[in-house]
Amino acid sequence: MSRPALAQLDLAALRANYAHAKAAHGGKVAATLKANAYGHGAVECAQALAGVADAFAVAFVQEAMALREADIQQPILVLEGAFGMGDVELAQRHGLWLVVHQEEQLCMLESLRGGARVQAWLKIDTGMHRAGVAPHEARALWQRLADCGQVAGTTLMTHLASADEPDNPATQRQLAVFEAATRGLPGPRSIANSAGVLGWKGAHQDWARPGIMLYGADPRGTPSDVLQPVMQLTSEVFAERWIAAGEALGYGGSFIAERLTRVGLVALGYADGYPRAAHTGTPVAVDGRASRIIGRVAMDMLTVDLTDLPEAGAGSQVELWGRQVSVNTVAAAAGTIAYELLCNVKRVRREYQ
Ligand SMILES: *Cc1c(COP(=O)(O)O)cnc(C)c1O
Repeated sequence: MSRPALAQLDLAALRANYAHAKAAHGGKVAATLKANAYGHGAVECAQALAGVADAFAVAFVQEAMALREADIQQPILVLEGAFGMGDVELAQRHGLWLVVHQEEQLCMLESLRGGARVQAWLKIDTGMHRAGVAPHEARALWQRLADCGQVAGTTLMTHLASADEPDNPATQRQLAVFEAATRGLPGPRSIANSAGVLGWKGAHQDWARPGIMLYGADPRGTPSDVLQPVMQLTSEVFAERWIAAGEALGYGGSFIAERLTRVGLVALGYADGYPRAAHTGTPVAVDGRASRIIGRVAMDMLTVDLTDLPEAGAGSQVELWGRQVSVNTVAAAAGTIAYELLCNVKRVRREYQ
């Protein structure tokens, strides 16, 4: 038997979440598959959505090329745009859509003499101050794109910094800045990430670009009752022991048993992507019953409390996250976000269903 650490990926759940995004937003929806589809496998996810997705989005051109090599035909939006002329030429040859978030990228398009025309997405910085052109420059840059012989058309876009916080007024300000910067300019528009799709009607435009919600995690951090988790991360108990009250467990002896405690040793650790910061008390499910991590997560294994689960023992299945334990709950316990946990999963066997 091989090591039981396993990520099962439910592609029907992915399709259901895509349908939910489409229904909630309306218009067209580019499924964001960057970072290997947030750890879910970009090619497998693209194939699962190929019949329904209007487009895909990735971070950079090489991620797009991996999908083209797997014969994915949809338009692919490259969210960071081109890093150099090599990227622009690949975009021309393979029908990739390029975000233009700074003037250098516009100059690359203007320098083209021939080849296929490229779809541009002009990204305006409406308040996030990470990437994007200044609102007062948007009109002039849009005109240069319109005048550019190798540009087939321009979509106007922006990205929301705080849409996961329903009461944060920054989002309304960003929407107002976008509206003013683009007023009167023709062409499609795109604002919403997952949080925009789920929580901000004003962000619903021609195109959405959801990522995390497609994988079943709510960007607002609370477990969702409409989205279906795509990944179930599991392993098994492969050893068990009793420790007496007062005995310490694991690295640093951070857990001291308060009573006679039965410890289950689970074949999965931080080298598999489970967060080391998940402390004693982080929920797990053992054979479908609620339990908790005790002691520190190690590189290859972690320990769970079996004291109140007399039927559980060696061979019991342990869900680290999935339908019983929300990845959002584990992320909160580890002081991080579901995005980071999901895209860090590695070294485990993967099964698609
Ligand atoms: C990653 C990304 C998205 C998707 O964000 P989610 O929060 O995962 O929905 C959308 N747009 C841009 C520009 C991104 O970088």
